[in-house]
Amino acid sequence: MNNFQFQNPTKILFGKGQMANLSKEIPKDAKILMLYGGGSIKKNGIYDQVTKALADYTVVEFGGVPPNPEYSILMGALKVIKDEKIDFILAVGGGSVIDGAKFLSAAALHEGDNHWDLLTGNKPVTEGMPFATVLTLPATGSEMNSGSVITNEETKEKLAMGGPGLFPVFSVLDPEVVSSIPQRQLANGITDAFTHVLEQYMTYPIGALLQDRFAESIMQTLVEVAPAIQKDPSDYKAAASFMWSCTMALNGLIQKGVPTDWAVHAMGHELTALYGIDHARTLAIVAPSHYEYYFENKKDKLAQYAERIWNVTEGTTDEKAKAGIEKTVAFFHSLGIDTKLSDYTKDYSDTGDIVSKRFTDRGWMGLGEHKSLMPADAKKIVEMSY
Ligand code: NAP
Ligand code: FE
Repeated sequence: MNNFQFQNPTKILFGKGQMANLSKEIPKDAKILMLYGGGSIKKNGIYDQVTKALADYTVVEFGGVPPNPEYSILMGALKVIKDEKIDFILAVGGGSVIDGAKFLSAAALHEGDNHWDLLTGNKPVTEGMPFATVLTLPATGSEMNSGSVITNEETKEKLAMGGPGLFPVFSVLDPEVVSSIPQRQLANGITDAFTHVLEQYMTYPIGALLQDRFAESIMQTLVEVAPAIQKDPSDYKAAASFMWSCTMALNGLIQKGVPTDWAVHAMGHELTALYGIDHARTLAIVAPSHYEYYFENKKDKLAQYAERIWNVTEGTTDEKAKAGIEKTVAFFHSLGIDTKLSDYTKDYSDTGDIVSKRFTDRGWMGLGEHKSLMPADAKKIVEMSY
């Protein structure tokens, strides 16, 4: 196992009725910006629950954060924060709203006018305005981590930022909200969380036995609850395990002491930026090709995964590893997720070149757990995903 330090300061309020505790967690004199998305919270009752819980506070609302939170829209929210002298942000939504809140938390204390350099500067954010979340869509894990992904529509870029200053103070996770989530987003959530685990697990084995078992237990749980959630999102038992699995998949725990990959996300972000494909679906497009491309590096772990997650017991290491990739694709298909770029756009013939050029322009030399994925490799992997 590699050396590591682990600290996760986010307090979790999990379960039915936890919204009632919201006001116990926010300083009484706080002036709150309530940030939300396109309006789902007004249909499913969450908006009413939050405004009721915050009845004693001064609350300024900012709605309209779109999926793949957009820089120019967030700049409008930043103006509200400054004009209204906001000192606490409450994100009510999915990963996009929460990531937007993290950007705002950093931007509120960031010097200068060019806040896009928070995305390009490669500097961990050590300080932000306090913020918390009410999660409405289990998927990203953003409710208990310090990362954020922001889109710039003008340049068609989607970049990540983060740092120890960007953990939510607390997050409310009430699985009852799952009953209001449409099928498309349920499938996305399962796929995103599953791939988060893969990114931290599908590397060369270093004998970190407990991390492997943690990762495997999250994947097994997602595989187990997926059919129940898709059949009946109001199945509380399944929804609770789904929600907690998504949070545990990316709250830092399973990545400690092990090599991590994250190249699938880096390539996937380009597909969202270029074609607007849902984040989770880009991962389902890229991951199988990525594992085929790096088969030699990853085959021992792929074989372990095939055995432990998919009960593949017959065959050589190579055969099991190959079956592991096939089972993963079949799992995504079982959720209703297509796994080829051509399933989403007809306009894909030069995507590999575009992605490789962008990685080169940004100086992204050496992604992945071996720091060996060069722009030319990204081109080939993306082309294998057509
Ligand atoms: P999302 O973009 O936050 O939301 C997708 C859609 O689901 C929105 O249209 C939203 O509608 C709707 N929705 C959310 N909750 C709902 C509910 N309870 N009922 C009905 N509709 C609901 O989806 P996401 O998958 O959670 O977030 C994706 C973003 O997170 C991407 O930008 C991705 O890159 C990023 N991400 C971040 C991390 C991280 O660690 N920070 C990790 C992975 C991905 P409304 O807008 O109307 O609410
Ligand atoms: Fe993700």
